[in-house]
Amino acid sequence: MSKFQVSPVRHYINGQFVSGIAGKTFENISPFRNQVLNTVAEGFKEDIDLAVRAAKKAFEQGPWGKMGVAERMKYIVMIAEKIEANGEELSYLESLDTGLPISQTKKMAARAAENFRFYAEMVKSRMVGEAYQVDGDFINYTIHKPIGVAGLITPWNAPFMLETWKVAPALATGNTVVLKPAEWSPLTANKLAEIINEVGLPEGVFNVVHGFGETAGASLVAHPDVRLISFTGETSTGSEIIKNSADTLKKTSMELGGKSPAIIFADADLESALDAVVWGVFSFNGERCTANSRLFLQKPIYDSFVEALKERVSNIVVGDPMEPSTEVGPLIHKKHWQNVIKYIDIAHEEGAEVVSGSIPDEFREGNYVAPTLLLNCTNQMRVAQEEIFGPVMAVIPFDTEQEVLEMANDIRYGLAAYVWTSDIKRGHRLAQAVESGMVWINSQNVRDLRIPFGGTKNSGIGREGGHYAFEFYTEAQVIHVAIGDHHIPKFGIPKNSKIIKSN
Ligand code: NAD
Repeated sequence: MSKFQVSPVRHYINGQFVSGIAGKTFENISPFRNQVLNTVAEGFKEDIDLAVRAAKKAFEQGPWGKMGVAERMKYIVMIAEKIEANGEELSYLESLDTGLPISQTKKMAARAAENFRFYAEMVKSRMVGEAYQVDGDFINYTIHKPIGVAGLITPWNAPFMLETWKVAPALATGNTVVLKPAEWSPLTANKLAEIINEVGLPEGVFNVVHGFGETAGASLVAHPDVRLISFTGETSTGSEIIKNSADTLKKTSMELGGKSPAIIFADADLESALDAVVWGVFSFNGERCTANSRLFLQKPIYDSFVEALKERVSNIVVGDPMEPSTEVGPLIHKKHWQNVIKYIDIAHEEGAEVVSGSIPDEFREGNYVAPTLLLNCTNQMRVAQEEIFGPVMAVIPFDTEQEVLEMANDIRYGLAAYVWTSDIKRGHRLAQAVESGMVWINSQNVRDLRIPFGGTKNSGIGREGGHYAFEFYTEAQVIHVAIGDHHIPKFGIPKNSKIIKSN
């Protein structure tokens, strides 16, 4: 028995935890044993309407919009502090809900707190404009204003971290928020609402409506009073959201799927490369948007590297997500599990050599997929082109730099890439030629909060993180002021024009 309890989850609207207007709930299922964890309020258009109305009122009339930056940032820092204070519970809830190993969710909770601290600092220094002196006659200056009600729609794969990634900059810049978390992972979004409630943010500033994408999510996207949508999820959902947000001309940010290449040349530091690619595809149960799910190995090292990979895969600890030693846990949901298993069948059909680790018998009730290598793939196979989003890596041999570059780019995605070589010129050359939003050379996926995060091609539109998020969540307004005499064209002047005098 854990010291942390899981209770029914309700929406958080206008500073209150409330049931849905329709009174409906859905069951939240544990990935570990496929048992019901709790019930969750199911939101529909009416609940979204209520939340958006509260957020709009809070933006237009509440104290939030009028608050000085320093005061607003006190709230943002308080949220960070409470996340830290509740770190143990947050990582427990996240692992319970998603099946992610506890050793990995611990780090996510800490990172989530950092997101709030980072934007509290950034807004203080960055909520500034530019000024231009124009020939002594004018000053033009800009100010950055919050936009209004921000609709945030998030996925289940690293729920708390990705929610805070959006909520922190949206609130810090002065917007109000309606969050629609993923239906398969509602627990930490609910905990975030509890934390924000305890911090005492003015009512309506932050709202959470739970529910499904086609109903609650779609209503948020279509709502005329929601001014922007920040979305992280599948590419096909992103495309749907862009279409549905067109009628109300919303600003959108899209963080979408990936099928990222890791390219390892024979001259690389192979031990480090091995550590990095194993971590890169099997951490977070392989449910990771930046996973190096396509591994390109130069032929001279293909056999020896594959042998080392097989050894690692057979040793990966698959187990209970709550065990500190577990490296791979169960996938989020039976439906997703079926999808990943389907791809392993496809790999067999396509002629890849499939090598899997093992799942201890005691865990057969959970949504486990053993860490799996798909060897001797070609880049044209479906398993090398489509996002599987599980602990599965397609391995493809190559000869030359040109050949591997063409294969790396011959895909619809462009989120991340990893290049391993000791030839510094080649490393940079390839990194610059790869079509992806982010490239790591001789490095695993580490990220400073100041740098932009996001993808190109079908992996996304726009960037999150650093000042890029700040720009997304604010509107630059320009103000022109005449300070000298300047020529104003005169139209419609009557013959006996009089000078206008004040009374
Ligand atoms: P998903 O697209 O199925 O769902 C994401 C969210 O969108 C959920 O909250 C869902 O309810 C909602 N949604 C679904 N249909 C909707 C609609 N028509 N209108 C509005 N909202 C709708 O994605 P998922 O399965 O939860 O997440 C996995 C995907 O997310 C993978 O493709 C992964 O690569 C991607 N991802 C990308 C990044 C990134 O930064 N690029 C990060 C994490 C995950």
